[in-house]
Amino acid sequence: MNNVSIGKITGIVIKEVKLKEADKIITIFSKEMGKVQLYATRAQNIKSPFLAGTQLFTYASFIYSSKNSINFLNQISIINGFEKIKFDIEKIYYAMYFLEFLDKSVELEYPGKMMFEFIVNTLYTLDGAKEDVKLIRAIYELKMISLLGYTPEVTSCVKCDKEIEGDNYHFSFEDCGLLCEKCIEPIDKAIKLNKTTVYAMQYIIYIELNKIFLFTLTPEILKELRLVIDGLIKININQSFRTLDFLNEI
Ligand SMILES: [Zn+2]
Repeated sequence: MNNVSIGKITGIVIKEVKLKEADKIITIFSKEMGKVQLYATRAQNIKSPFLAGTQLFTYASFIYSSKNSINFLNQISIINGFEKIKFDIEKIYYAMYFLEFLDKSVELEYPGKMMFEFIVNTLYTLDGAKEDVKLIRAIYELKMISLLGYTPEVTSCVKCDKEIEGDNYHFSFEDCGLLCEKCIEPIDKAIKLNKTTVYAMQYIIYIELNKIFLFTLTPEILKELRLVIDGLIKININQSFRTLDFLNEI
């Protein structure tokens, strides 16, 4: 079976693996097919037309031909190379972490049109960001956790479904959501949360994607949000991220 079929996808390069002979295998997160791998012949060669377009973070359309279950890259047309990210060491580490998070969370051909829109939106926001990169990270992680199907219950009590009264917000990692005063048991390791932290979580999970980055938080609230997100990642994603070591050093 040597049939060759031609395809076109629009996506972001989320991983690159350099091979001998200057070849590369790149992983794309695409609008059409989710996560896909392409074989880029001689892409590391300085004169290669694939040199720029096969680098991490590149947002482009890719034409490829499939032969014997391998997708060979034929042509790239770059939409955005996110140059401002590439010239800012802190932003590079954040972007690398976002891509590693995505790559490790989904299988090949995982269908994720909304996830695709979100990663594009996140990179544009990071590219143009002046500050608040820590907030961009928190928003990215919580929304990804939610898109991956691990949405925590942040609107009512996860056990009895009742609205939380007053400002008594307690979050249980074990139950993955808020607990009302009646449902908290002494053995629960629920943490008390500020109302604003809960509002921020509701906003991130339920607002339309084009508005998701349009808010700020005080450092105290961001710290609390960080605590909740770290717990959710540990429980639901359970991966170690190489790029986080860099991030934690800066
Ligand atoms: Zn309850």
